[in-house]
Amino acid sequence: MSNWEKNVRKVVPYVPGEQPHEADMIKLNTNENPYPPSPKAAEAIRRVAEEDTLRLYPDPTAAELVQAIADVYHVSTKQVFVGVGSDDVLAMAFMTYFNSDKPILFPDITYSFYDVWAEEFRIPYEQIPLDENFCIVPEQYFAENHPNGGIVFPNPNAPTGVELSLSAIESILQNNPDVVVIVDEAYVDFGAATAQPLLEKYENLLVVQTTSKSRSLAGMRIGYAIGNEKMISYLNDVKYSFNSYTMNQTTIAAGAAAIRDVEYFRKTVKKVIETREWSKEELKKLGFSFEDSKSNFIFATHKSVPAGKIFQALRERHIYVRYFEKPRIDNYLRITIGTREEMQTLFDFLKDYLKEG
Ligand SMILES: *Cc1c(COP(=O)(O)O)cnc(C)c1O
Repeated sequence: MSNWEKNVRKVVPYVPGEQPHEADMIKLNTNENPYPPSPKAAEAIRRVAEEDTLRLYPDPTAAELVQAIADVYHVSTKQVFVGVGSDDVLAMAFMTYFNSDKPILFPDITYSFYDVWAEEFRIPYEQIPLDENFCIVPEQYFAENHPNGGIVFPNPNAPTGVELSLSAIESILQNNPDVVVIVDEAYVDFGAATAQPLLEKYENLLVVQTTSKSRSLAGMRIGYAIGNEKMISYLNDVKYSFNSYTMNQTTIAAGAAAIRDVEYFRKTVKKVIETREWSKEELKKLGFSFEDSKSNFIFATHKSVPAGKIFQALRERHIYVRYFEKPRIDNYLRITIGTREEMQTLFDFLKDYLKEG
């Protein structure tokens, strides 16, 4: 009997939030932006489609996009890495920087892709519990307390929305000079402070961002990392050894146009933040509690009705939120901030439902 399956790399895959397609649905389950991307992105896609370039390979360095990011964030192009969504950037970063026998560290409640990549690349890992208020405890990440082969966490954290201060991040860097520290800033534009200013002092820091949330381009798949030149060159070496043409021509052009349209970006982000702050008030009135969110979602628990029950009731009404059946968080709902109208519909439904329940 053949035994080929013994040599197969077996993984338990990451499960993304569902993507239902119902005409009347309200989709608040995958932290997408409710507003369209900059109109300049669509213009750029049309321009590329009309040029005689699609028969050619794209620029493997994605120079147009890298230049736009370097200009907007005031760094050198050698400090910028781009990938197919920040998921691709993070996967490449895990492969590049996490090659120690010691475990990498990340929170117990966090982005659920980290343990999947660690398993897939056979990187040992240890999950450090958040405190009872869902906060990261910086000291637990210090090398002298927890010898480690690297550190990764989102800021703000997902799915909690809780921000870690820059001084806390700096203390983690100060106490880990011998490993790479990755800060996943998928939601930072919605009100948290970026760790980018720390790049000047700490050459082992990598800051990862995405156009999927704050720039409304989840469908294009564009993520990027900013770090020091040496770090970025190691990352590029791994990427080019894997697949050199990861970003297509339309993506490069649309991403560059969206990144350069800073005014549009600020306007959209401001609207999401305003709706989030109003939503916090409404949720409190409905009997929900939550830690303060600096992201485009609120992670909330209800004083009397179990989260799983609310989730099902919302689902039947075609209102989609995210529910994780995991220890410590199985009585919470992660609610993405939609338009004001979408949130109003959600709150109207909840008002009736919770009265009956
Ligand atoms: C959404 C998300 C990502 C991935 O986003 P991409 O669409 O792949 O850029 C990465 N990290 C966290 C914490 C996220 O929530």
